Amino acid sequence: MGCQGGSCGSEKKSSLANHPCFSPHGHGKTGRIHLPVAPGCNISCGYCVRKFDCANESRPGVTSRVINPEQALWRVEKALAGSMGPYLAVVGIAGPGEPLANPNTFRTLRLVKEKYPHMMLCVSSNGLLLTEKVEELIEIGISHITVTLNSLRPETGAAIYPYVYWKGEKLTGLAAAERLIEQQLKGIEKAAQAGLLVKVNTVVIPGINDEQIEEIAEKVKSLGAAVLNLMPLINQGIFAHLEPPTVTEMTQHRQKVATILPQIAHCRQCRADAIGLI
Ligand code: SF4
Ligand code: SF4
Repeated sequence: MGCQGGSCGSEKKSSLANHPCFSPHGHGKTGRIHLPVAPGCNISCGYCVRKFDCANESRPGVTSRVINPEQALWRVEKALAGSMGPYLAVVGIAGPGEPLANPNTFRTLRLVKEKYPHMMLCVSSNGLLLTEKVEELIEIGISHITVTLNSLRPETGAAIYPYVYWKGEKLTGLAAAERLIEQQLKGIEKAAQAGLLVKVNTVVIPGINDEQIEEIAEKVKSLGAAVLNLMPLINQGIFAHLEPPTVTEMTQHRQKVATILPQIAHCRQCRADAIGLI
């Protein structure tokens, strides 16, 4: 019997190679389009300024227009008919808020998959709702997920996340961080076991989590993550006063963990409405 549900090793490897954001080699050959259909967010990250795109995946200073699922499908149709058409292989949802907290994410991905079954589908998430959404993601046909995880330690998380909404309650401090980290770790494990290719993004925040990169890499690898993408802090929000890591420091961080998990060094921290080759 062949592999079931897209979870065998060789399928995962070829998916890694094809997706421009998951492979160190996919860079410059494959295109992706982000559909900005997910405005709401269920947590607060200290580096996020909500009038801009999601800082998990975006450059600051550019505001997206949020679109609905039908407009999103039309945007894919238009992109496929244009000059990007031959290269376009990935449709992603990366904000501008938290995709898994917005029903339009799922509706959009269903519409795209129905019309373009060959397209790779990708979602970028803070991980809070991942455990409860994995089955639906698999059922729709999503193959790749990115989870932004910045620390395994609640005391560090409390410094990064001012609050987390969980089951109708606003959690703050250690309770917020504990809940978020617990859900992120469970979600990464469940997603990987279900056959999704999991990339972990970690925002390197000097003086806050930059001494924890190795422990993060070890842990997420043990849970089944395939790739780690270290991203330098964009110093805004409550971290506006911090100096972002230098290019040299980022290279050193990547070198330290390269033996643990493959690194993505070409990440452009894309906007929630990005389109083009990566
Ligand atoms: Fe997926 Fe993130 Fe790449 Fe967009 S930038 S296609 S959400 S991994
Ligand atoms: Fe901002 Fe994204 Fe964090 Fe939500 S998950 S607060 S949109 S960076």
